[in-house]
Amino acid sequence: MSERPTRLLSRANRDLARDGIWSWTIPALAARLPDGTTFRTCRAAGVCSQVCFARSGTYNFPAVKAAHVRNLLFTLEDPEGWEQAMTAELSHPKFAGAHVRIHAAGDFYSAAYARAWLRIIRATPNTSFYAYTKEVMLHDRILEPERPPNAVWIISLGGIYDRYVDLHRHRVCDVFPTETEIEHSGWHSQAESDLLAAYGPAPVAMAANQIPHLQRRQGDRRFSEWQREVDRARGDSTDRPRRRRRIAIAHPVGATDKL
Ligand code: SF4
Repeated sequence: MSERPTRLLSRANRDLARDGIWSWTIPALAARLPDGTTFRTCRAAGVCSQVCFARSGTYNFPAVKAAHVRNLLFTLEDPEGWEQAMTAELSHPKFAGAHVRIHAAGDFYSAAYARAWLRIIRATPNTSFYAYTKEVMLHDRILEPERPPNAVWIISLGGIYDRYVDLHRHRVCDVFPTETEIEHSGWHSQAESDLLAAYGPAPVAMAANQIPHLQRRQGDRRFSEWQREVDRARGDSTDRPRRRRRIAIAHPVGATDKL
């Protein structure tokens, strides 16, 4: 059994802390586990993984990476213990009226893990939770139908299931090259506060992080446009929907797979 984190929620992310937002984080995209296997934490990531903010900068500091892997391992090795610990931590009076972003990085990697979060949220009715996710089918089958009133989900584009996103039915966020392009698009920037992504007008837009080599890679495309280019190049198109991946409802929380 790996070392357990002492605190599960933090205000380590400066942008979120500015608005008093607490966050929970697991590694972005995938993590190498102590047994040598690779565990995918963002199974629906598409083009976003090529410019992922959480795979550069401070996220790569060894101590930061190790802390995020410790969080993930807790959920994998002792899911019930993790759920109890998270629920207990959230019962502290400082979380009453507070906002928690689930996943400063990472995503709902399994149905069991998503359901654990739904129980935690229901047990903490005085705290508001929100999460960006690219797991569109998991969202439609579990997260949204079972959503507690104190939770908001935002479907973020740039994932392998973008083709199933419906602007009328989903709360959607796209990543634009710049704020200027957001201004001319009719979408709604969350630059003032990440809370706007959850509680402001939709559809939601955010500008790409100011990391030059990642900006160059994205070019002048939105994530949604870039993902469409990739899908088309692979012969996938919205006119010819691919068979939906079955969501592994009974997927064991601890299962691992290779990248
Ligand atoms: S889903 Fe988010 S955290 Fe995961 S690879 Fe994409 S941008 Fe990074």
